Amino acid sequence: GGMDADGGRKDFSTAILERKKAPNRLLVDDGEGDVVPDNSTVALSPAAMEELGVYVGDLVLLRGKRRRETVCYALPDESCPEGRVRIGRGVRGNLRLKLGDVVTVNRRVAVPHGTRVQVTPFADSIHGISGDLFEAYLKPYFRNYLRPLCKGDSFLVRGNMRAVEFKVVATEPADCVLVAPDTVVFCASDEPAKREDEERLDGPGYDDVGGVRKQLAQIRELVELPLRHPKLFQTLGVKPPKGILLYGPPGTGKTLLARAIASESGAHFVVVNGPEIMSKMAGESEENLRKVFEDAEKLAPSIIFMDEIDAIAPNRDKTHGEVERRVVSQLLTLMDGLRPRAQVVVIGATNRPNSLDPALRRFGRFDRELDIGVPDEVGRLEILRIHSKDMPLADDVDLERIGKDTHGFVGADLAALCSEAAFQLIREKMDVIDVEDETIDVDVLNSLRVCNDHLKHAMEV
Ligand code: ADP
Repeated sequence: GGMDADGGRKDFSTAILERKKAPNRLLVDDGEGDVVPDNSTVALSPAAMEELGVYVGDLVLLRGKRRRETVCYALPDESCPEGRVRIGRGVRGNLRLKLGDVVTVNRRVAVPHGTRVQVTPFADSIHGISGDLFEAYLKPYFRNYLRPLCKGDSFLVRGNMRAVEFKVVATEPADCVLVAPDTVVFCASDEPAKREDEERLDGPGYDDVGGVRKQLAQIRELVELPLRHPKLFQTLGVKPPKGILLYGPPGTGKTLLARAIASESGAHFVVVNGPEIMSKMAGESEENLRKVFEDAEKLAPSIIFMDEIDAIAPNRDKTHGEVERRVVSQLLTLMDGLRPRAQVVVIGATNRPNSLDPALRRFGRFDRELDIGVPDEVGRLEILRIHSKDMPLADDVDLERIGKDTHGFVGADLAALCSEAAFQLIREKMDVIDVEDETIDVDVLNSLRVCNDHLKHAMEV
């Protein structure tokens, strides 16, 4: 409602009543605030908590899409915008919600202690490991934490060099229970769960990208907002950007950033590799490019990521290749042809922005540029934390020190450093790992600790 009879202009005098009608319908925001919600919590603004009559640590019932429901503890977060609720990726997946969707939050529900809970790991998440998942994953996960579990939920448990995702198959005495010390948790690892398409939480999240906080905020505003709320932009009469250029050295996370935006906002993601598309037979490059844009429009909202775009669109004045000239014009035509409502954004990545054809950087094409530079000390620490989150670190490991000592390392170098340290550890433990076996026992994984020496060694290779 809210439209007045003649002008169609919105009457704000009743706006406050409208909002009050459903104070429990909140927009889904990411879990990247001051408080970082886990698998069993959501963060609300103190104002929303007050309005809903929810106290710190109360259980709330969340209702998402496809009649999915789950229960979480409510935590206050000053950084949570009004009208929003911060939900981590796991819980968002359980509720089949994307960022910007509406979730219903019902205050304070009573949830009984579970008598029996049956969970099973997803087949793809335990591939290559064997042994007692209960001891290694579930026991620590439920220790000292009355976690709510609802039938049909899945949850990811980190650690032991490998994160494992479980599905809740059955709960007694109700469909939602709290897992207490006397709850029998039954884990059927011999019959792992197969994933249905809708349950796939693929793609990296915002929490997988480190050291680019500012750029992430900018790119989200430019890409995620228009993809999620095209109406908002139409109403305001502003055109969201069609193209964004990310520039910076290789391995700084440009691809990762674009993928995270796509998976968090639920957009279709296509990668076009510059050199690869150019190596195609004459004439095919243009056709391929046209097809990419056509598919992206069909599957919209979409993000087209053009890696090494300088190979596709070099400066026409400086190139003599006939193919390059034709492909540049084709790309310009395709970008100009994107309808503002198509909900397709093209993200180009290059290490050499100045070698691009200038026509491409004009208004209405790639008219926004973001510098994704080499991370500083704080950024490096953030990235190290991300890449070691499944690694049990020995007490002598000082990630801050390593962040200081890795001047000049980009994200890809730091990721490699972490995996090299793990490899070094595994080399040392070859006596307890049987290479002939197809799987590694979780007890062995559980006993592994990455030490300072492993990381030091990795820095030298
Ligand atoms: P680019 O596209 O800039 O060449 P990528 O996104 O392909 O870099 O980075 C390669 C890999 O390095 C990523 O998949 C990730 O594992 C790691 N990485 C790079 N940058 C970052 C970052 N900022 N934060 C976390 N990991 C990163």
